Amino acid sequence: MKIVFERKKCIGCGSCQALCPQYWEITKDERAHLKDSEKNPKTGNEEIEVEEVGCIQEAADSCPVECIYIIKKPDAKA
Ligand code: SF4
Repeated sequence: MKIVFERKKCIGCGSCQALCPQYWEITKDERAHLKDSEKNPKTGNEEIEVEEVGCIQEAADSCPVECIYIIKKPDAKA
């Protein structure tokens, strides 16, 4: 599945980092960064492909501005 992080909406509350430090960190500009992600040049969003959503689900659920999107793709193997 794909994780999309709309960084411009982030208010830097730190909730994602607290719940899921494997994937999230707060950077010097006081916004979150999705680790190992690539920046989409068109949207400015950070994007990453993951096999398992893991704690990213909790981070997304806890985000007060709902700027973490989990996009489940149709099963490509089917
Ligand atoms: S939980 Fe949401 S608003 Fe808070 S730091 Fe993470 S991405 Fe930003």
